[in-house]
Amino acid sequence: MEIIDFHIHLVKKGLLNPTVLEFLKVNNPFFYSHFEDFSNNPPSLVNYLKSQGVKYAVVLPEYAPATSAFIPTELVIEYCQGEDMLIPFASLNPNTDPEPAKKLEHYVKECGVKGLKFLPSYQFFYPNEVALYPTYAKAQELNIPVIFHIGSSIFKGTRIKYCDPIYLDDIATDFPDLKIIMAHSGRGFWYEKCFFLSRFHKNIYMDITGLPPRNLLSYFPELDSNGKKVIFGSDWPAMPTGIKENVEIIKSLPLSSNTIEGILYRNAEKILFDG
Ligand SMILES: [Zn+2]
Repeated sequence: MEIIDFHIHLVKKGLLNPTVLEFLKVNNPFFYSHFEDFSNNPPSLVNYLKSQGVKYAVVLPEYAPATSAFIPTELVIEYCQGEDMLIPFASLNPNTDPEPAKKLEHYVKECGVKGLKFLPSYQFFYPNEVALYPTYAKAQELNIPVIFHIGSSIFKGTRIKYCDPIYLDDIATDFPDLKIIMAHSGRGFWYEKCFFLSRFHKNIYMDITGLPPRNLLSYFPELDSNGKKVIFGSDWPAMPTGIKENVEIIKSLPLSSNTIEGILYRNAEKILFDG
């Protein structure tokens, strides 16, 4: 079975905040011992991903210096260049970018960027703020998905109130053709809300990044009924296991083969390549 990993990070030592560095050191010693190689040599990452059975991976920048990291979009674009399996996304900070919609258009039309990620709890804004609407309109026009970090995280300075999934309801209604992805599916105490929203809105999807896959059915007992709206992501390198291990656990869950194939490949394929 082919795999799309919808959520991996490019990380560079000098561009991460101390709590993130410490987290990686403790949680992924294998990665940590090969840090420089993965950060600077895209073929090393490509080989690792292939060894895990991954066909395509979405590579995320992170414009959130107050909480986690400042990994510029340009760095991700450069890193992914020439590696067909690495799909670059953009990160914009609505509080500091003067013209985010314009910047997004540039990234997509001239640099091959395929989507956008926002981190409301790291960047401190409510997703339904009117100031963001031109950016959503642009993403809809460009037909690219927008990922929102929706859930808790341990990084210092995070303000979780901004990623309450309810704010996405406005966006889904006002931009009916914009594909909205809830990264982490409400990790912490919003699982039910995320599940409901992804069933209620045709353009809202859940990504299960960072959730222990063996617990998926306890978070989402009716997961099988929502098989077309759930997407796999690993959060690599911010994970204690290999990607393959997580994939194997998902395959072993009591879910229909359609749901499993949808989660691991087809739902992401549709969002990324079908338009
Ligand atoms: Zn992540």
